[in-house]
Amino acid sequence: MLQDKDRIFTDIYGEKGPGLAEARARGDYDGLKDLILTGREAIVDAVKKSGLRGRGGAGFPTGLKWSFMPKETDGGPVYLVVNADESEPGTCKDREIMRHEPHKLVEGCILAAVGMGCTAGYIYIRGEFVREGERLQRAIDEAYEAGLLGRDIAGSGFDFELYLHRGAGAYICGEETGLLESLEGKKGQPRLKPPFPAMVGLYGRPSTVNNVETIAQVPAILRRGADWFAGLGRENNTGTKLFCISGHVNHPCTVEEEMSIPLRELVDKHCGGVRGGWDNLKAVIPGGSSVPLIPKSVCDEIRLDFDDLKNAQTGLGTAGVIVMDRSTDVVKAICRLSKFYMHESCGQCTPCREGTGWLWRVMTRLVEGRARPEEIDMLFDVSREIEGHTICALGDAAAWPVQGLIRHFRQEIEDRIKRQQAAPAMAAAS
Ligand code: SF4
Repeated sequence: MLQDKDRIFTDIYGEKGPGLAEARARGDYDGLKDLILTGREAIVDAVKKSGLRGRGGAGFPTGLKWSFMPKETDGGPVYLVVNADESEPGTCKDREIMRHEPHKLVEGCILAAVGMGCTAGYIYIRGEFVREGERLQRAIDEAYEAGLLGRDIAGSGFDFELYLHRGAGAYICGEETGLLESLEGKKGQPRLKPPFPAMVGLYGRPSTVNNVETIAQVPAILRRGADWFAGLGRENNTGTKLFCISGHVNHPCTVEEEMSIPLRELVDKHCGGVRGGWDNLKAVIPGGSSVPLIPKSVCDEIRLDFDDLKNAQTGLGTAGVIVMDRSTDVVKAICRLSKFYMHESCGQCTPCREGTGWLWRVMTRLVEGRARPEEIDMLFDVSREIEGHTICALGDAAAWPVQGLIRHFRQEIEDRIKRQQAAPAMAAAS
């Protein structure tokens, strides 16, 4: 269990205040000039050594991603883009950072900019986060007034401009290239890669898109040392993580914990346990709605990190942990997610545009039991035809929940079909 001394987000519940004075009292911006002056290479090396992996879902090593940015500059702008769109169902962690500790994100942007040679940064926040946007804008304004943004930051000679941009509430704008398109004022439709944003990103310039939590963790890593961060969690799964636990627990919450914490420990210690006790657990979606669910038998032992969850054929994703007790109609729950992904498909590629509709229509019939048993395998095949055959990961996100359902709750689907088939015969007999 994470000790208080290792906590990065020391005011995630907003008890002390989001302003610059309170942030400074918590240690934010301490020695910022010296950190900036350590220089680009040292910052990237430290982030690499810390083992930090992206907290937005994909888990790509952050330092490695930063190292893809061109070392030589043609004198034109180079951008840092922060993904604050947080639209994944079950996820509410970046919102807490922006609401209660916005200066951690602002300071993280400055240091990430040094690490990548960025001249300007954009934070793309989902439009529905009205109050969070206000808080963040206030933090940016305060930082400018205090000489922590703009020209010659903290007397270091480093210049960096930071802007807040509000999105209009489309899930697909959380995909990095869809986000870039939207930021440029176009429809939020993901781009084909390559070229990757590090070469051709925002306005055709080198850019890196990082998640809010990832960037907000960087100042602590640089201040306390890569070894400290790497010493938390376990190899390849280092550091602390914000987990958001919702659903059938006694006290849903967002909490910072050590990476690799056992799921059961997380739920019991921070959420007052599963409603009705651990044995009343049916399944958990461990990483936001787009990863496959896992049944209780897997939940008993699983640790919440990238590797353990991958081995269990699911994923850490955003660490939005959705708990479902035995009262849950799990077929209906996954059907609801299928509807969500169908609605959010941007429609550019056929497997996603057509396939998400297929998934939802077959899932709807499965909910009602109006299907033939062989359609379960057909549904699985359709999901496999979508997975990996689309421009962006929304196709996978639509396919995986359905695959998880069939993998672990096939019997429940078959029973529904049998009950439905038996219904007319029983009615006739009576
Ligand atoms: Fe659009 Fe879906 Fe293709 Fe992504 S996978 S680009 S959301 S159609």
